Amino acid sequence: MEHLIELDKKHFIHPTSSIQQQQSDGAKVVMESGDGIYLTDKNGNVFIDAMSSLWNVNVGHGREELAEAAAEQLKKLAFSSSFSTFSNEPAIRLAEKIASLAPAGLNAVFFTSGGSESNDSAIKLVRHYWKIQGKQERRKIIALKRGYHGVAAASTSVTGIPEFWGMAGHMLTDFTHADTHYENGTDKAIASLQETIEREGPETIAAFLAEPIQGAGGVLFPPEGYLKKVRELCDEYGILFIADEVITGFGRTGKMFGMEHYGVTPDLMTFAKGVTSGYIPLGGVIVSDQVHDVLKEKSMGTLFHGFTYSGHPTAAAVGLKNIEIIEREGLVENSRRMGEELLNGFRKIKKELNIVGDVRTIGLLGAVELVEDPDTNKRFAADMKVAPKVIEALHERGVICRAVTYESTDIICFSPPLVINNKEVADMTDKLHDAILSVQNELGI
Ligand code: PLP
Repeated sequence: MEHLIELDKKHFIHPTSSIQQQQSDGAKVVMESGDGIYLTDKNGNVFIDAMSSLWNVNVGHGREELAEAAAEQLKKLAFSSSFSTFSNEPAIRLAEKIASLAPAGLNAVFFTSGGSESNDSAIKLVRHYWKIQGKQERRKIIALKRGYHGVAAASTSVTGIPEFWGMAGHMLTDFTHADTHYENGTDKAIASLQETIEREGPETIAAFLAEPIQGAGGVLFPPEGYLKKVRELCDEYGILFIADEVITGFGRTGKMFGMEHYGVTPDLMTFAKGVTSGYIPLGGVIVSDQVHDVLKEKSMGTLFHGFTYSGHPTAAAVGLKNIEIIEREGLVENSRRMGEELLNGFRKIKKELNIVGDVRTIGLLGAVELVEDPDTNKRFAADMKVAPKVIEALHERGVICRAVTYESTDIICFSPPLVINNKEVADMTDKLHDAILSVQNELGI
C-alpha cells in the first residue's frame, strides 16, 4: 500500500483536487473492488458508496453481466469507426433504444465518451443548426448560476460555478448565466432569465442549457412551474432548450429522465454517467426530430464534429446491457420507492437533530442541508466547514458522500446506486444521523 501511495503521489494527477495537497498527503483510499452499493479498499475497509461514485454507478458495483457484455464485444469487434458512412450494430441498437426511452419527438442520438463532450457537442450542434439557416448571429448560450456541465471548453463556460472558469484560464465568450431558481422561486428566476434574454438580444441566443435538477450545485429542485415557464420563454423567443440529463438520466430520479417530472420536452438532451453506470465511458446528445431534420436537410457532414470514440461498439454494448438490467430489475421504480424511504429517513433525522434544514429527495437523488438555525435557515459561517466535517464523520463510519459548500451552503448530497434496498437505506441514514450528531456535539449546539 505504502508503495502504491508513493507512486500515486508521483505520477497520477487526480481530477478536481488540490494537486498540491494530493502530492503532499497522497491518496487516502485506494479502492480494490465493488459489490452492489459497497466499495472495498485495499486495506479491506468496506464503504457504502452513497454517491454511486460520481452519481453514475446506477446498477451498482460488481455486475458480471456488464463485464461479459464488454468481453464478448471486445472479442468480436472491440472498435471500428463510426465516421461518415461507417457504422456498427451495438451503436445502432443503442441509439434506437435510447430514442425509444427519450420523450416523444427526440429520436436521433450523437454519441460521445462523457458528459463534458456531450454538452460541448450540443452547443456546437445548436450553433450549427442556426448557422446553416443563415442565422449565425445566434451563438450565445444562456445557462444558470450554480449549474454544472463539465470541464471541456464550452461545458466549462456554460457551467455556472465560477471556480471552474479559472481552471480553463477564462470563460469563453458568448456564455451568460441567469439566476438559479435555488432560493429565488419561479417568478424571480424566470424574471432573471427573461431579463438576461432581453439584455443579450434574443436574436443572438442559440440555446438555453440547464439541468432539470441542479446536481453538483447542491441537488437543487426547480420550483413549481419553473421549467414549464422556461419552455414558454424559449418558444416565445425562438431559443432552443438543451436539458443536461447527465446526472438525472437513466432512472436516477425515479423516472427514466428527469425532465419527465415536469411535463416539459426539451429540443436536445445530453446524457452520460448512468447510460453505462460508469462501467465504460459513454455519453451523447439526443436530438429532436425538428432539429435533426434541419441538420439532415442542410448536410450534417459540414459540421466536422465527431470524436474517435463516437459510437464505440464496446461502450455501446455495455450501454445496451446496462439499460437491459435497469429495465429487467425495475430499477427506475426502485429508485422512486427507495427515494421515498430515504426521505423518511432524512425527515426523522431532521426531527431529532438541531442543525438540519431542508431535506429533499426525488428518486435516489437527495440532499440534506445543514444550517445554524432551521427556523430561519440561517447558514453557518463558511470557515466552520460544517458539511466537510460531516463528510469526514461519515467516512469514519464507512459512508462515502459529498458536500456542496459553494456560496456558504452546507449541503450533503446523496445519489446511491439504484439497487439499494430498505435495510441499506436505513443503515445509511442511521450513519448519517450519527455523523451529524457528532458534529453537532462538537459545535456545542
Ligand atoms: N453535466 C452534469 C450535470 C454533470 O454532473 C457532469 C459531471 O458530473 C457533467 C455534465 C460532466 O460529465 P463528465 O464528467 O462525464 O464529463
